[in-house]
Amino acid sequence: MNRFDEKITELRDLLSEGPKRVAIVSNANPDGDSVGSSIAWARVLRGMGHSADCLVPNKYPYFLDWMEGISDVVIYKEDAEKANKIVSEADMIFCLDFNRIDRLEALSEAITANETAKRILIDHHLDPPADFHLEFSDPKSCSTSFLVYRIIEKLTGLDAIDKPSAEDLYAGIMTDTGNFSFSYLTPELFRAVAVLVEKGVNIPEINAAVYNSYIEGRVRLLGFVLIEKMKLIHDGEAAYISLKESELRRFNFKVGDSEGFVNYPLSIAGVKMSAMFLETRKFIRISLRSRGGVDVSEFAAKYFDGGGHKNAAGGKSFESMDKTIKKYEKAVKEFLRDEKN
Ligand code: 5GP
Ligand code: MN
Repeated sequence: MNRFDEKITELRDLLSEGPKRVAIVSNANPDGDSVGSSIAWARVLRGMGHSADCLVPNKYPYFLDWMEGISDVVIYKEDAEKANKIVSEADMIFCLDFNRIDRLEALSEAITANETAKRILIDHHLDPPADFHLEFSDPKSCSTSFLVYRIIEKLTGLDAIDKPSAEDLYAGIMTDTGNFSFSYLTPELFRAVAVLVEKGVNIPEINAAVYNSYIEGRVRLLGFVLIEKMKLIHDGEAAYISLKESELRRFNFKVGDSEGFVNYPLSIAGVKMSAMFLETRKFIRISLRSRGGVDVSEFAAKYFDGGGHKNAAGGKSFESMDKTIKKYEKAVKEFLRDEKN
């Protein structure tokens, strides 16, 4: 039996002996993969007779509103009492699409306080800490949704995936692979997608629901960003975009509207890494993307207390926008120089 099969056996044991109360949590600023994988996993667990609730620290983007059951996802910022109750009463806590409990922001306290619940990780980010009773961690999986698919396949069989779950898993895979254009696009992934299509997924419909449902302000904000806010530095080897709260307000900004902006500079020949600085009330949220060998998860960890994947990572800055940009410019110079040596 290989390690994955052994873990499936452990998971089956944990889920045996009566129905469990399950909490499924995902990280702050949830995206298509975190929400899609969470809701699909919850549906499958409910189908097995367990009770399952999905929780996120803050609101998911509105272009995921079409997902069936998304309105049942508990948002800590909007109902902390309910979120705390679910977490404190849970027998099992699944952590999906992130691997550091502290990334849950305010929700992390409730998780750490529940000392009896079994904590299980299902994730595809690098370097998980040893915080879990059982971990399904695969940095070579294109998305958590694909990992959840593989777990379901072994645990219960694919009959457990109904049409809504198939749509949610497909949306997670589609968004995390940048519409099948990033890494880890294996034959197994496309076989899984074929099964999801057999379950009723209508690819053009989901594509349109996610990518053609923006508010007008989002599209105009993108125009503003590309003309006014995208800067190339270090002879065009790196780039950044900065957005202040006042600029976001001007375009009627909604959560998720800036998703994908950070990729645009990488479509310019020669640009190896790109950053986006998004001002929020408490700090500046940093998104990083790179091409080829440039490892932005290492860059994020070294300079901005963050992490992620090799070509897509993030972090935070508690300094002003100007200081953050200066720090980035200096850090990039050092980092790319070290890369070359
Ligand atoms: P995004 O730019 O899409 O928000 O994030 C890109 C990737 O980096 C995601 O996989 C996300 O989970 C990870 N990431 C974003 N911010 C942070 C952070 O502050 N810390 C860590 N460890 N990972 C992050
Ligand atoms: Mn993901």
